[in-house]
Amino acid sequence: MTKWVYTFGDGLAEGSASMRNLLGGKGANLAEMSNLGLPVPPGFTITTDVCAWYYDNGRSYPETLRDDVAQALEHMARLTGKRFGDAQDPLLVSVRSGARASMPGMMDTVLNLGLNDQTVQALATASGDPRFAYDSYRRFIQMYSDVVLGLDHHDFEMILDEEKDLNGYDLDTDLTSDDWQRVVERYKALVEEELEEPFPQDPMDQLWGAVGAVFSSWMNQRAITYRRLHDIPASWGTAVNVQAMVFGNMGDTSATGVAFTRNPSTGDNELYGEFLVNAQGEDVVAGIRTPQDITEVARIAAGSNKPSLENLMPEAFAAFMDICNKLETHYRDMQDLEFTIEDGKLWMLQTRSGKRTAKAALKIAVDMTAEGLISEDEAIQRVDPAALDQLLHPTIDPNAERDVIAKGLPASPGAASGQIVFSSDDAEAMAQKGIKVVLVRLETSPEDIHGMHAAEAILTSRGGMTSHAAVVARGMGTPCISGAGSIRIDAASETLMAGPVTLSKGDIITVDGSTGEVLRGAVKMLQPELSGDFGQLMGWADKVRRMGVRANADTPVDARTARNFGAEGIGLCRTEHMFFSEDRILAVREMILAESHDHRRDALAKILPMQKADFTDLFEIMAGLPVTIRLLDPPLHEFLPKTDAEISDVATSLGVDIGLIRHRTAELHEVNPMLGHRGCRLAISYPEIAEMQARAIFEAAIEAGRKTGAPVIPEVMVPLVGMKAELDLVKARIDAMADAVQQETGESLSYQVGTMVELPRAALRAHKIAESAEFFSFGTNDLTQTAFGISRDDAASFLGAYQRTGILEQDPFVSIDQDGVGELVRIGVERGRQTRPDIKLGICGEHGGDPSSIHFCEEVGLDYVSCSPFRVPIARLAAAQAALKAKNQS
Ligand code: ADP
Ligand code: MG
Ligand code: MG
Repeated sequence: MTKWVYTFGDGLAEGSASMRNLLGGKGANLAEMSNLGLPVPPGFTITTDVCAWYYDNGRSYPETLRDDVAQALEHMARLTGKRFGDAQDPLLVSVRSGARASMPGMMDTVLNLGLNDQTVQALATASGDPRFAYDSYRRFIQMYSDVVLGLDHHDFEMILDEEKDLNGYDLDTDLTSDDWQRVVERYKALVEEELEEPFPQDPMDQLWGAVGAVFSSWMNQRAITYRRLHDIPASWGTAVNVQAMVFGNMGDTSATGVAFTRNPSTGDNELYGEFLVNAQGEDVVAGIRTPQDITEVARIAAGSNKPSLENLMPEAFAAFMDICNKLETHYRDMQDLEFTIEDGKLWMLQTRSGKRTAKAALKIAVDMTAEGLISEDEAIQRVDPAALDQLLHPTIDPNAERDVIAKGLPASPGAASGQIVFSSDDAEAMAQKGIKVVLVRLETSPEDIHGMHAAEAILTSRGGMTSHAAVVARGMGTPCISGAGSIRIDAASETLMAGPVTLSKGDIITVDGSTGEVLRGAVKMLQPELSGDFGQLMGWADKVRRMGVRANADTPVDARTARNFGAEGIGLCRTEHMFFSEDRILAVREMILAESHDHRRDALAKILPMQKADFTDLFEIMAGLPVTIRLLDPPLHEFLPKTDAEISDVATSLGVDIGLIRHRTAELHEVNPMLGHRGCRLAISYPEIAEMQARAIFEAAIEAGRKTGAPVIPEVMVPLVGMKAELDLVKARIDAMADAVQQETGESLSYQVGTMVELPRAALRAHKIAESAEFFSFGTNDLTQTAFGISRDDAASFLGAYQRTGILEQDPFVSIDQDGVGELVRIGVERGRQTRPDIKLGICGEHGGDPSSIHFCEEVGLDYVSCSPFRVPIARLAAAQAALKAKNQS
């Protein structure tokens, strides 16, 4: 028989941390903490298998589940001495979601469940504190109505605000027992009016209502969006945790809080957390009151005059510190904790590996290695390569003038400027038009995810370091300032006031998420620092990775950036990018429009010295590292004059009639240029272009080799080859040019000629093509276009629908389609190596910088990946992780 329910509590649990898939992260860790003997309120977990069953069976439950739950409630009764539904001394519970992967704030929780008109009185009597009892009841009614009954929580908040205004109260904690009783009556009346039936009074009905709501919340819109953004399969499902309530809202000896065992923003090894006295559950993260610091050190650093937990409740604090140390050592990772203090007694409610910025991830990984907690290999695996992006982002130039208009909490590091917007919908709409925006909100909620994604930076006037905005922004690597309390936001008139400054929608500000400063206008930014922890971890990664990492670089600036980031050569230099600069385009146009070979050669002779100078620069910067240069690839019409002025310029320069130019332009027009006259087809119909480029490459190689003393071995790459004969024809020209240059200079040259594999036919015929090609570089952008028959430039209009409907799980231009395009790569690799075992194999599409595609490249055994310069560190780390994975599997 399947076991659907696992109990925990009192130093024992049926589950453990290793059962995360079945119990969800929250349930598995509650079990683990129980097993460790930590103070965890007892409870039980309904497994993710039940969630799967629920959805497979028309939202119903396995037959035995009711009995299993009843028994688990008995178990809780034995441990707590209280019975669920008891009229005298009731056991109250929380019903909490908890998926395998943490999805903060995406699904629902109900607290204080089991309260009704009768049990609330029992709670008042048993606790001797009616204010507490009715506060708990009103919280329960509001949460249950929102989560289970589907009523709008704003309506409840309005009632509460009215009661506060009426009595002149500022804070929820100002309300008396009588006040709360009145609120409860009004809440119940609201429910009855909306639903035409009373608020459910039977605790069992309440329990099953909440369990059903948690399972249902797996399919709510925000959970679906979150899963899509984080690649979490819908099939995983959520578990439900039912747990005895402990109360942080029982007066001044009670509190609730959240903490990280290390600073999640900087990675510093210091406890980092916030708490509120006389509060419950999410009061801390909801930004209702401004929370207090846990440690004295943090309080002093923040300049806060509200006492720290260390001062206020020294015993609970000491117990908590002890537990923090225990958990960090046990899990060997930084933990994110929830706790509640009920009348001086500490209870642990959650632990999980804490989300952190890339900077913190690096520091924690490097520090923990030094502390002997983890190995270098583990440190490598602890850092998400994609998150490194955050560190590679600009920061504000310290010498820049700062017009600081407000200060908040430095919730997510990095800096960005943009036009302010006050709604997530506006943020999304403007970002789609290419406008950089800063999302400004009172606070954010899960409904804001799309706007937060679209924004360059986020600014909220409320909330702490653990607010929704802060947590989500850190995860996204988006700069964020939270709790900028001096800012007044008027969303209705779309203005914000910061002291004397008033800004409206569209005005530009800069958010410095590292300092918490809000600056007026755009500010000069600086490139990031790549030594320290970053350099350390990259060094470890470089030791373990098998694949080389090169960069796609067309200009000296790109090439220098790439080397700075640790590129080991250039995997793709697109020569056409050298054709567009103002001083060259005229000669290029002359060359294209020339009607005879002689004319064309004249024009090419003007371009030759320029190309040669470009290549010499690249070779010198790369100082002996391999450089792959691709011959001219795009359709020629891309270079043609378009405006009248341009056309007349070219006509004058060529000494021909404007009409002739127009005629020639029309001739070159193609219906489908992506599949048209481009790639090696150009080199075949205009061999003099390939010859000029080959000459420039070889002369530059000799010159740079002389200058730097490091011999240059250029790799000449022929694009868009589908047939061996195409390559042979072009290769013969390249070889002839190499001979000529060697004769002219009297120097000997080493070079290679290879091809891009970017057509399905090239992959299929790789064994033939490899007879001539000394290397393959998989051009997976074009290979994806040609394998799917989807033009990348036109895909936007339908790829969205493909992803929404699940036809495609990911954009195949971002992450390689391993099944289809990947199969072609596999075939190309196998057949190429059959003919030429030492053939050099690389990838130069966008996929070369995508971590999951890099794993694929490791699996198929490529020699190197090549990606844009800014992604080089990401690729180095991802390649190391892929190598470790391969090692662990073998
Ligand atoms: P989330 O995953 O959104 O954090 P949780 O299930 O952890 O949701 O619960 C929301 C809040 O309620 C948290 O602050 C948590 O600590 C608190 N909470 C949950 N269960 C209990 C309980 N049994 N007693 C007291 N507080 C609880
Ligand atoms: Mg929550
Ligand atoms: Mg939680």
